[in-house]
Amino acid sequence: MGKVKKGQPCSVNGCGKPASRSISPSHEGVLLRLGLRVSRAGRRIYLCDEHYKMFKKAHKKEERLEKWRMMG
Ligand SMILES: [Zn+2]
Repeated sequence: MGKVKKGQPCSVNGCGKPASRSISPSHEGVLLRLGLRVSRAGRRIYLCDEHYKMFKKAHKKEERLEKWRMMG
């Protein structure tokens, strides 16, 4: 997770708000499962506050499920 240069737009299709965070493209699946399509221009996915919040919530949930699977 990193901070983002000013002027970088959110990578979610149809959003275009200024991005405040970037995530690794390996997390693209989390966004897809949320129904969000991203245009990957570079090596990072850029997210605005709103989409980052959505991502974080879903990612946490999936991480938890992953842990359960590993324990089981
Ligand atoms: Zn956005």
